[in-house]
Amino acid sequence: MSKNIIHSTSMERFTPAKPESPLISIVIPVYNEEEGLQALFDRLYPALDTMVDTLKVRYEVVFINDGSRDQSAQLLAKQFDKRPDTTRVVLFNGNFGQHMAIMAGFSYANGDFVITLDADLQNPPEEIHRIAQCLLDGYDYVGTIRIARKDSYFRRYASKAMNQLRDRITRITMTDQGCMMRGYDRRVVNLMRKSKEINTFIPALGFTYASKKIEIEIKHEERFAGESKYSLYQLIRLNFDLVTGFSVMPLQAFSLIGILLAIASGLLFILLLVRRFILGAEVEGVFTLFALNFFLMGVLLFGVGLLGEYTGRIYEQVRKRPRYVVMGVLEQDDAISGETIDASE
Ligand code: UDP
Ligand code: MG
Repeated sequence: MSKNIIHSTSMERFTPAKPESPLISIVIPVYNEEEGLQALFDRLYPALDTMVDTLKVRYEVVFINDGSRDQSAQLLAKQFDKRPDTTRVVLFNGNFGQHMAIMAGFSYANGDFVITLDADLQNPPEEIHRIAQCLLDGYDYVGTIRIARKDSYFRRYASKAMNQLRDRITRITMTDQGCMMRGYDRRVVNLMRKSKEINTFIPALGFTYASKKIEIEIKHEERFAGESKYSLYQLIRLNFDLVTGFSVMPLQAFSLIGILLAIASGLLFILLLVRRFILGAEVEGVFTLFALNFFLMGVLLFGVGLLGEYTGRIYEQVRKRPRYVVMGVLEQDDAISGETIDASE
């Protein structure tokens, strides 16, 4: 039996093949963005091509069409035809929301690092390379702070208030939770994919798994075209996702409120009892009592509603329906897309 002996004169034979340059996946959710998509492509791809030269990385772009009712899917398909080597398009069969679209994007992204951004050009594609640089430097979570945020006064004010509330009641500390242009490394992305939460808030979820975090300031622009896809109601729902998904403090606060109210009512009862024996039965204060009563009823109803928020989420979770439904994926034949863990469940 002859042995296969390799006579080596140079150590080079034993050095492993040079690993390929890191792959950066860009994940972009798209919902009714037909007016601005071409402008996005026109800025995104050149910015990424420049990044390839400067950072020596590779890239892929994963678009998720979140059930758009306009021409967005057709425009995405056209872009796929133009750049099939670096583009993948995941098509949902309905509207499952921005955060679920990003979750699906994570499942179909193959990158060592993933950067998410909005399709409306509020997050300038020219800033992507700065996030990529931090990821290459070893940070596993790159948060962002929008400088000179270009949103309505109401949005900025409400967002500030929610940031403060989140800071108090969760363990998540970030300066600007609302900016979706962020970077995550593969480990954090995989943990998010495994989380299986139906209503979640991706920047906060990523934050909980990250171990080496950084925040950088990035530019913010006005929406290029169209209108925000979030109505006031949806914004409220999204913030409930953030609060209920990452803290049970609101529920606990109600036990405290309950205790305080019980003590206060007890004292009031004693006061009225004593008063009755000294001054006789009273009727003057009856409307004050009504007002007090209505206020307490409001507090109670809010408490019940809050309980409903949590129970509703538990209900959705135990039903175990798929979190999103993918109708099709546009990708090159030889592409290996990342849906190895079936994250849609
Ligand atoms: N989006 C989505 N599904 C939705 C709502 C929004 O995929 O149900 C996408 C939208 O196309 C955009 C991003 O999420 O790329 C952010 O949406 P938008 O700009 O409307 O939010 P805002 O900037 O007003 O917070
Ligand atoms: Mg926007």
